[in-house]
Amino acid sequence: MTQSPADTTTFDIVILGAGSGGYAAALRAAQLGKSVALIEKDKIGGTCLHVGCVPTKALLHVAEVADEINHSSTVGIQSTLDSIDLKEVLAFKDGIISRLYGGLQGLIKAAGITVVEGEGKLVGPKTVEVNGQTYTGENLILATGSDARTLGLDIGGRVVTSTEALTLAELPSSVVIIGGSVIGVEFASVWNSFGVDVTIVEGLPSLIPLEDPALVKQLERAFRKRKINFKTGVKFSGVEQTDSGATVTLENGEKLEADLVLVAVGRGPRSAGFGFEEAGITVDRGWVPTDERLRTNVPGVYAVGDLVPGLQLAHRGFAHGIFVAEEIAGLNPQPIVDSGIPRVTYCNPEIASVGITEPQAREKYGDENVETYEYNLGGNGKSQILGTAGIVKLVREKNGPIVGVHMIGTRFGEQVGEASLIVNWEAYPEDVAQLIHAHPTQNEALGEAALALAGKPLHSHA
Ligand code: FAD
Repeated sequence: MTQSPADTTTFDIVILGAGSGGYAAALRAAQLGKSVALIEKDKIGGTCLHVGCVPTKALLHVAEVADEINHSSTVGIQSTLDSIDLKEVLAFKDGIISRLYGGLQGLIKAAGITVVEGEGKLVGPKTVEVNGQTYTGENLILATGSDARTLGLDIGGRVVTSTEALTLAELPSSVVIIGGSVIGVEFASVWNSFGVDVTIVEGLPSLIPLEDPALVKQLERAFRKRKINFKTGVKFSGVEQTDSGATVTLENGEKLEADLVLVAVGRGPRSAGFGFEEAGITVDRGWVPTDERLRTNVPGVYAVGDLVPGLQLAHRGFAHGIFVAEEIAGLNPQPIVDSGIPRVTYCNPEIASVGITEPQAREKYGDENVETYEYNLGGNGKSQILGTAGIVKLVREKNGPIVGVHMIGTRFGEQVGEASLIVNWEAYPEDVAQLIHAHPTQNEALGEAALALAGKPLHSHA
């Protein structure tokens, strides 16, 4: 760090935003010997750590405990769920966040990264002003992330986004969730396990519309069984709230009454008012487009994470951050391709997938050049012990590699690692069939699906 005559502090890299993308870039750049300023207006760790991945997964864990208690008689244990102490639940969630937050702050400090607290605004192509002080980087990384979209609805009172939903003082008796994608189904799953009456409204024809149709079918069946209500293919036209409740009106005229409305209609880029366009950076409806090396149109300015159009996932942000740090250091890293990024939809049952869906494969290779296999978890010992239904579906290019792995079942997110290796290493079913999968694990289902697709099924039919 040096103080220049123009009273700006200069660094090799200035990073705007310390979420998954920004802090990963900072840590990797510091490892590579770069001086780094990391500017954050809220808390290091960003959405994922404080109001995203981590708190929601903590709540899902509590939900799983509640489910286990409610269903314990099926394994011979008599128990009843007396009550849910939401205050204690939130303390459990907050304890996890604060431990991880402390650890992250320690890593940033130990790496010698200069943390600048406050909202940054670009006052030049690579100069950011924070509280009257300017910071200039030889390179600038934009990592300002995303915010919940609200489609013009006023958030407050009984109408909340995921952020407010994480700190409710009391459990609602009923909730309408507008949006049936990842965040919507996640909260639906938690609240249903907590005994809340849940109805999801999704404008597209199905829940989790971006996943393979076979998984959609399984999830919808599981949700019906759990008595999670959902209305698909219908849009809402308005939301009204009073002191005692809220009403969601649908475009077909139907009215849904609830205690609380969760607006979960996706996330949009957080870039307005930060001076990006004034500094000459191309902005497209708030997003910052980049080339495959995550360069913006301005030399030396990069963008990472949710701000860049594509999958909005924390591990994509980490990968982007590491990529840009290595790119700046001249290591010539491999570009990050969205289709190779593993995706998990955290609810019960859990969805885990990598690569392209069957319809996408048919579109890409032609109907006659696609082969698929669906292994039913009915044949998997561990799945039966856990009491989960589900499938592992493989999609392969005919006589070629596996291009998509699509799985659903309790705890299946934990299986996504092998799926990711299979798709990204372009493995053939025959390659995977040779690998030995431990028995009895749910991981075996992946091996069984590959065995079947390679023409030698063991616990299934070809
Ligand atoms: P962010 O994490 O949003 O970080 C951006 C940071 O920049 C913020 O800290 C912000 O305060 C700061 N900032 C913005 N503008 C400025 C400025 N002008 N000056 C200074 N600081 C600024 N992803 C997963 O992979 N797995 C999950 O399970 C998962 N669950 C989720 C659950 C929910 C409810 C939500 C909302 C998201 C979830 N996500 C999940 C998505 C994940 O949180 C995001 O993909 C990830 O946080 C994106 O990282 P980012 O660094 O791009 O942005």
